[in-house]
This record gives sequence, C-alpha cells and structure tokens, in this order.
Amino acid sequence: MKRYIKILLIAILLIVAFIIIMILKDKNKIVVCIDAGHGGDDVGAIRDKRYEKNDTLEIAKLVKKYLKKRNIKVVMIRDKDKAVSLEERCNIANKRNADFFVSIHRNSAKTGNGIEIWCNSTKREEDTDFANAIIEKLQNTDIQKNRGVKYGTIDGENSDYYVLKNTDMPSCLIELGFITDEKDNQLLDEHKKDYAKAIAEGIVEKIESRKK
Ligand SMILES: [Zn+2]
Repeated sequence: MKRYIKILLIAILLIVAFIIIMILKDKNKIVVCIDAGHGGDDVGAIRDKRYEKNDTLEIAKLVKKYLKKRNIKVVMIRDKDKAVSLEERCNIANKRNADFFVSIHRNSAKTGNGIEIWCNSTKREEDTDFANAIIEKLQNTDIQKNRGVKYGTIDGENSDYYVLKNTDMPSCLIELGFITDEKDNQLLDEHKKDYAKAIAEGIVEKIESRKK
C-alpha cells in the first residue's frame, strides 16, 4: 500500500512540475495583439456591399494563423463580428501585456490606392522599425503602391489614432489598400494569404531583431 502512495506522490509531483514548466514557458512567449478594425454596428468603410469590418477580420485571422505557426502567442481584439470600443481595444492589449500591437484597417477615399502604415506622431523608433518591417514585406507582394510609413493621422501630425496613442507597446496601424479602389480590392481578394503572411513575417522579423 505504502509503495502505491509513493508512486502516486511522485506522479503528482511530476505533473505539477510539468504544469509549472508549461506556465513559465508560456510566460516567456512574445505576445502579439492583433486588432481587426471596426466590427458589429461599426462596419467601417463601405464599397457597395463590401464592409471594411469583414476584410479586417479575415486578414487578422490569417495573420494569427501564421504567427501561431511560428509559436508566437496571439491576442485577438475580436475573432468574430462584434463591436469593441476603442478604449476596450487598448485595455485588452495593455492588460494582456502585449509586446506588439497591430491594427488592421482598409482605406477609403474618392481617389487613391495602395498600402500605408500609420505610427504615432511621437515617432518612436520602435514603432517606426515595427511599421517598416511590415511594409517592407508587403512591398514584396502584389500591391498597387507602397504609400509608406506615416505619422499622426490623415489630419496631420497634431493628432493620433486612438489605438496607437493609448497602447503601451510598439504599435502601428495598417491601411491594407483602399476599399474604394476596385484594383486594390481585387488584389486583396487574390492575395489575402500573401498579405497576411507578409504582415506576420514583418512582425516575426521585428521580434527576432529585438531578441538580439
Ligand atoms: Zn478603419
């Protein structure tokens, strides 16, 4: 009887040790927060029956898939069609101690095409490096135009996008083509996997350069 108790105790100890190792391992993992822009009643930009909120969610899910493959922990702001306030988006990223935050959107204008990435007007080096790593990978896919890394908002450098201003970690906001441009939409539909992979690869590159 005593021998069985001994074996049982050893087994329990081993299981506890294993759980602790797994928790510690998970704690050391880099966390990337992916923010699929808009959602729910907030459909974002519209072109005919195409809603920005659906494009952003689809790409966000694909980026997650590629990051998971690289053993990176991903926090999704939303993984379904639901409304999440801007404040809540930042709270999620900050509370989960994300190492990086990337917001995915699509542009909208009477004219214009191509991809651009926005950073906070403070022009932190980490944000710029992060955005550059992503846009360089996107440049190698089939895009109409690389509009570059920009600071502040469309109204200038005196304002910032809420999610970039209120997240504590390196962050950027990707405008993945214009929903108002037919060719941009066609390219997105044809290359959504390539775009998502490029975004993930840019993130991975930034993570790896940080480790050095
Ligand atoms: Zn948007």
